[in-house]
Amino acid sequence: MKRNLALFALLCIFQATLAQLNQQLFDQYDKYNEKSITTRRFKHDDIMAQLDRLGSAFRVKQVGTSVEGRAIKLVSYGNGPVNVLMWSQMHGDETTATRSLLDVFHWLAADDEFNAVRNKIKSSITWHFIPMLNPDGASRFTRRNHYGIDINRDALRQQTPEGRTLKRVRDSLNADWGFNLHDQGRGTSVEGKAPGTISLLAPAYDHEKTVNEKRGDAMQLTRHMFNQITSYIPGQIGIYDDTFEPRAFGDNIQKWGTRTILIESGGFEDDWEKQFIRKLNFILLVTAADAIANKTYEKTLVKDYNKIPRNGEGRIRDIILRRVNFEGLVRDVALDRRETDCPDYRHYYATAFVQDLGDLSTSNAYVDFDTEGYEIRPGKVYEQELAHLGQLQSLDTDKLWKEGYTDFIVREGFDPFESKYPFSVHERRPQSNTEIRMGGNPSLLLIKDGKIAYMLVNGILRKM
Ligand SMILES: [Zn+2]
Repeated sequence: MKRNLALFALLCIFQATLAQLNQQLFDQYDKYNEKSITTRRFKHDDIMAQLDRLGSAFRVKQVGTSVEGRAIKLVSYGNGPVNVLMWSQMHGDETTATRSLLDVFHWLAADDEFNAVRNKIKSSITWHFIPMLNPDGASRFTRRNHYGIDINRDALRQQTPEGRTLKRVRDSLNADWGFNLHDQGRGTSVEGKAPGTISLLAPAYDHEKTVNEKRGDAMQLTRHMFNQITSYIPGQIGIYDDTFEPRAFGDNIQKWGTRTILIESGGFEDDWEKQFIRKLNFILLVTAADAIANKTYEKTLVKDYNKIPRNGEGRIRDIILRRVNFEGLVRDVALDRRETDCPDYRHYYATAFVQDLGDLSTSNAYVDFDTEGYEIRPGKVYEQELAHLGQLQSLDTDKLWKEGYTDFIVREGFDPFESKYPFSVHERRPQSNTEIRMGGNPSLLLIKDGKIAYMLVNGILRKM
């Protein structure tokens, strides 16, 4: 009896440890994340340098070559009977999960209190990774490959060496599990209401969306993965559009008999470089491997997968100012931002633009601000043109800011890094900053009791 009790207590501790793996990973993430890459923009060389440093626990081999001659490499870990294949960056500008894979490598290489979890994974599964499937797209931070083909529409025709590589690797492993790692726009929503920070899907393999045994397994694991991160982003995980896409890889890999799961990294507050979402991916990937190794996903139910809310039609805007009383009428004003690449594609600058205006009472945004009770005035353009951007630093910008100056004209050396300044910088006198028009980028002062309370500059609302 005593022994049974002790066993029971031990079991409880064991269960508790399992239940907390996600939280432990969350708390200790900073011990494992690769710190040399902190933005969405990096290239093939950066990733190859990381793979070169992997220790003896990993096997790295070249499995393909991109159109422009870049190596596509496969990293493998462990020696268990279950083959798990994860591929990232099929779309060159979707880089969040690639960074998470580097973090997973560091976690796998460590020797610490997670050893039991690691050893179980190592002996139960062989874990394979293609960290960057489309290095040519990555070199120009663009979705498609060298020939402009979307590799994710090339599963049937197999016209791209990148797509053929993925097919060949899947077939050679006869992968039991496949993880298709992507990014989606910040505007993606859950049911049109909340940001779709993460979307998940066990893709359909036919138009009827049949659930066979393997897709059922993938649904169970997907629900298990949902459970691992929902407390960190409540209401912000959606099921991606499950319409069967006959040309896509995820759908076909499911069809070819690999239990397939799609992860899409979307938007989160002001996490422009998706570093927090990268951390969530790390937790998703490690806990998924753990659940496969221990078969814990079998405890979740397909019907609970079906209860996960869906991505919606409605988009989440970066910012909506409500009831802006300006130019003699009241409008809600929604702004998003677009990125302009610098020539090296490693950097960019962001420009806000009015995406929608009018009655936006059915729209939602990351920043939602009601301007009722504020007087709205246009920001001021600094009268003196600056020869170069550096001159901004010699001005008392704090004082100018308080006086309502929002826009500067810089004659030359228009620097792409303008976004590090809290001003709008122009090459010539701006036409549109004094009015609110579709596509424009207005600078606005929100005035209360005769004082500037807030400023909207380049789509960012700042409290004064
Ligand atoms: Zn994608």
